[in-house]
Amino acid sequence: MSGTRIIEQVPGGGQPRNPPDEVFDASRHVLLPGLVNTHHHFYQTLTRAYTPALNKPLFPWLTTLYDVWAGLDDAQLRVASELAMVELLLSGCTTVADHHYVFSGALRHAIDSQVEAAQALGVRAALTRGSMSVGRDAGGLPPQSVVQDEQTILDDSERLIRQYHERETGAMVTVALAPCSPFSVSRDLMRASAQLAQRHDVRLHTHLAETADETTYCQRLFGLRPLDYLEDCGWLSDRTWLAHGIHFNDDEIRRLGAAGTGIAHCPSSNMVLGSGLCRTLELEAAGAPVGLAVDGSASNDHSNLAQEMRQALLLGRLRYPPDQVTHQTVIRWATQGSARCLGRTDVGGLAVGQQADLAFFNLDGLRFSGAENPLAALLLCGADRAEHVMIAGRWRVRNGMPEGVDLEDLRGRHDAAARRLWQRMQD
Ligand SMILES: [Zn+2]
Repeated sequence: MSGTRIIEQVPGGGQPRNPPDEVFDASRHVLLPGLVNTHHHFYQTLTRAYTPALNKPLFPWLTTLYDVWAGLDDAQLRVASELAMVELLLSGCTTVADHHYVFSGALRHAIDSQVEAAQALGVRAALTRGSMSVGRDAGGLPPQSVVQDEQTILDDSERLIRQYHERETGAMVTVALAPCSPFSVSRDLMRASAQLAQRHDVRLHTHLAETADETTYCQRLFGLRPLDYLEDCGWLSDRTWLAHGIHFNDDEIRRLGAAGTGIAHCPSSNMVLGSGLCRTLELEAAGAPVGLAVDGSASNDHSNLAQEMRQALLLGRLRYPPDQVTHQTVIRWATQGSARCLGRTDVGGLAVGQQADLAFFNLDGLRFSGAENPLAALLLCGADRAEHVMIAGRWRVRNGMPEGVDLEDLRGRHDAAARRLWQRMQD
């Protein structure tokens, strides 16, 4: 590699054309392209395993937690973002996406502080300006205190695109527009977001077809199934990637594939909330990019993409024959598939010209002892931590430790922020 890019692939036993300045011995490691996470809610790390929300399906789970999240402030979001990104990084993830849609009164600089946190860690970030505009007063799910008026949302979206969205190959920060879901924003805001995204050539993201309840809600409110509603709002295109994408029929899968709309598959979250099984292979066969995601930490409740690969393999085996969802299939979702969801060709692979985003795993632990196939062992024996991680040609994790981060201090600050958030509920 040179600068931020991979410049040459040298066959085993061969010599590079250009003499290297530095040699790294990876003979003990399994090398993967840096993993790419396509959907998360960093702030939810503050409400993991929160007793009142345990053992609930999506809608009651959401309405319980919205009231807690309504108290979120800038300092809490900043430390939650830092912690979630460090968790992802340590699991071998080099590109992180976040969907932040809670804008309480105390939260003034949400996405700005996430950009700062990503830049400080050197992580590649696809940040989204989320939104909620339909509160309980208007028949939506979220409390009024976390919804914003639509002009405020659109103005701030435009500001963030102008301020932070990088367009060149190797971009470290990109901005996408992400109304939360059909049950928390209006049709007007969905349409206006699609128009704004087109005008600025940025991507679109939302939750869709996560539960059967959502289908019922859309049919009752709009007289349309979720995908028909999405299309009606001008979103059915290759600019869009959707979180979950579980409850699609055959015709909808065909349309998603024809449009090139991406799906962020979130196996752990779907299992915890009992939402269902994404039809990953049919979506891929139809032409839709399929990526992998840990989803928000209040429904997973970890931010570990290596563990999520194992989960995707196991969940895939419940739906498909064993030779259809293999470890290679899942690694493809977590790298190239995820990169395609984010609209990127410069990450997610090891080809010459791509960004030098690399994850090195060792198989030294007891759990790997006796493993014959090293690549399969990562998923089957349950790798959960990369030993070294490089992003854009720079080491960001060495010997299992993130560069420039005091883990104990981060844990302490995050724990204090989480306690402050839940204690508000008891006051
Ligand atoms: Zn989500």
